[in-house]
Amino acid sequence: MEGAVQGVGFRPFVYRVARDLGITGSVSNSPRGVLIEAEAESRRLASFRAIIEKELPPLASIDTWHETDIPPRGDDAFVIGPSGREGGRTALVLPDAATCPECIAELFDPRNRRYLYPFTNCTNCGPRFTIIERLPYDRRNTTMKSFGLCPECRAEYEDPANRRFHAQPNACFACGPGLALLDRAGRHIAEGAEALGRTADSLRRGEIISVKGLGGFHLMVDGRDDGAVNRLRRRKSREEKPFALLYPSIDAVRCDCIVSSLEERLLESVEAPIVLLEKRGDRGTPVASSVAPGNPFLGIMLPANPLHHILMRELGFPLVATSGNLSNEPIAIDDGDALERLGPIADLFLTHNRPIARHVDDSIVRVMAGREAILRRSRGYAPLPVLLEKESIPLLAVGGHMKNTVATAVGRSVFISQHIGDLETAEAHRAFERAVEHLEGLHDLKPRAVACDLHPNYLSTRCARASGRPVIAVQHHLAHVLACMAENHVDGPVLGVAWDGTGYGADGTVWGGEFLRVDGVSFRRIGRFRHFPLPGGEKAVREPRRSALGAIFAMNGGGAITAGHPVAEPFKDEEIRILLRSLERGLNAPLTSSAGRLFDAVSSLLGVRHISSYEGQAAMELEFAAHRFRGDDPGALPMPIAVEEDEFVVHWEEALRLIVDARRNGDDIDRLATAFHEGLVSAIVEVALRSGEKRVILTGGCFQNRILLEGAISALRRENLEPYWHRLIPPNDGGIALGQIVFAGKRLNAKE
Ligand code: ZN
Ligand code: ZN
Ligand code: FE
Repeated sequence: MEGAVQGVGFRPFVYRVARDLGITGSVSNSPRGVLIEAEAESRRLASFRAIIEKELPPLASIDTWHETDIPPRGDDAFVIGPSGREGGRTALVLPDAATCPECIAELFDPRNRRYLYPFTNCTNCGPRFTIIERLPYDRRNTTMKSFGLCPECRAEYEDPANRRFHAQPNACFACGPGLALLDRAGRHIAEGAEALGRTADSLRRGEIISVKGLGGFHLMVDGRDDGAVNRLRRRKSREEKPFALLYPSIDAVRCDCIVSSLEERLLESVEAPIVLLEKRGDRGTPVASSVAPGNPFLGIMLPANPLHHILMRELGFPLVATSGNLSNEPIAIDDGDALERLGPIADLFLTHNRPIARHVDDSIVRVMAGREAILRRSRGYAPLPVLLEKESIPLLAVGGHMKNTVATAVGRSVFISQHIGDLETAEAHRAFERAVEHLEGLHDLKPRAVACDLHPNYLSTRCARASGRPVIAVQHHLAHVLACMAENHVDGPVLGVAWDGTGYGADGTVWGGEFLRVDGVSFRRIGRFRHFPLPGGEKAVREPRRSALGAIFAMNGGGAITAGHPVAEPFKDEEIRILLRSLERGLNAPLTSSAGRLFDAVSSLLGVRHISSYEGQAAMELEFAAHRFRGDDPGALPMPIAVEEDEFVVHWEEALRLIVDARRNGDDIDRLATAFHEGLVSAIVEVALRSGEKRVILTGGCFQNRILLEGAISALRRENLEPYWHRLIPPNDGGIALGQIVFAGKRLNAKE
């Protein structure tokens, strides 16, 4: 059988079931998965199979199961065949898994030999992806290779009936990794329990501690202490972007947030992601307002490794736990790097001597439309594959520019890397190259081609071109749509609604609010938003007020923009004169059809956000405004659709005119934000109906917006259309590597 069946205690589990049922034979790893030979009468074999399927170990899953009859051998026992050594390179690399209940119980049992041992694990939990250097998954191929097993650990490791049988990172106080506390200069201050105690004391005092976890260093600070959180913001130069919190328990989370049963399951899952939860309105929370300023949601995770469990048990209050990096760089993974990059930020460093093979950030999920959506796919999820319908030729895809991930195709599996980040810095560039090397290396892949974005200047595109391999460039929004189709196993034809901030268009303009008809790999744009210019180009991404100015200019020209117009409010007179002059001459003012920029324009016109301090802030705050709205249904702002040169063009001018008038009258901003969302939803439905396509793919960064996504899903369903959206991979640019793989695979297949 194939699936997640190696390194998860699968063979000892099969052994125990066979022994209980009196079945003889063997279980062993093979290059493709696990092989079981079982001998008994057919009734007992049937229950054997039923129990295996029903009572799988927590981390195991079976994708495919082949059965054949073989002649009876008359064995007198059931044995476990030789270990993972021959588990070949198609075997899965498993993600890291949160500490299991049995390990937690031992961790806090004073009579247990691993009482408060920060690196305990077993075959049901612990590090995997962050310690694997190469396959097969065997201790000598992990960063645990320098730690020899003590006699007690070895006995556990070799006992098929033990929970730690072949648990590669098995360790204890006597033989495993240990903690050390360092000051900013890298000097040892304390070790072991004393290091932990002093870390807890410093955190109670409001100090900032950098803590080495599974996939990298976090920066931690008391989440209740406004002064301390603001100090972290200043030192990290992170003005307003929300910080994630590490909570001591699910009960503590429930005190501060509304938690649905699905959200609770996600918080406590083996993936243990950060879950976006709505703050409770009925009572104040102890969480400092500086943690997520102006945000009705908090990003919360529960302890997922023994060290975090011990810290949280000791402290009992929520900690800010943010990636140990500067802005959108990759997270630091070794002491030297952490001391250098985080030295100016952290007061102390709690580190350990188990090396991290690769950086893995915390994943972020949000429940939307009744199921989870992964907004950042990393720890717990990467590098589990997405399965294609058919085998692919070996390929590499290098993703986009923002929120970069890379992917490889091996057989039917597409392995998608952990979140790498925005490819803006040398640090990110190195992490990108390492991720490509790791992903290719793990599966010994010789890609036949490299797929990349159509944008000629993306760093990822330039790396693809420099690789010397055949390059296949894929239009950005087509990649979004193909990724969503692949994970939903939907074939064409479909209507793809791909809305995001920016993507290089097939016609050289800046796309981002597109309706694509996609069939196989051929696509045609059948609709878009009406264009408007972005004064200053790239600068408009950080300044929503520029999108507002460009949109109003597109409607009326510069003459109508006088002092007192809401669009002029955030500018100085001189600034607006200069920008209008460049708009009139069409200089440095590229045209866009981007939905993300339209969100920005409306956010600024409503006075919600004129300048963003992080990506997506203006659109998020517009969503929050609509989220706050509690009145009667305000109806949809008009978004009439015209056919121009064979394309549906969504006209937003009337909506913006109404917004400007309402703003002048001092109308309720939350109400207008809601009506704007509804206007967008009705535009999606109308284009879908007029396109004649039944299946509608909702993809791109804009569909991280819950109000837009849920509104579109229910409105499409009311018209008996079939909406599809993301679940396994992010709707944002973190998902496009999958779409690039699909495109390149089909393109090359078609050629052969
Ligand atoms: Zn465990
Ligand atoms: Zn030991
Ligand atoms: Fe995008």
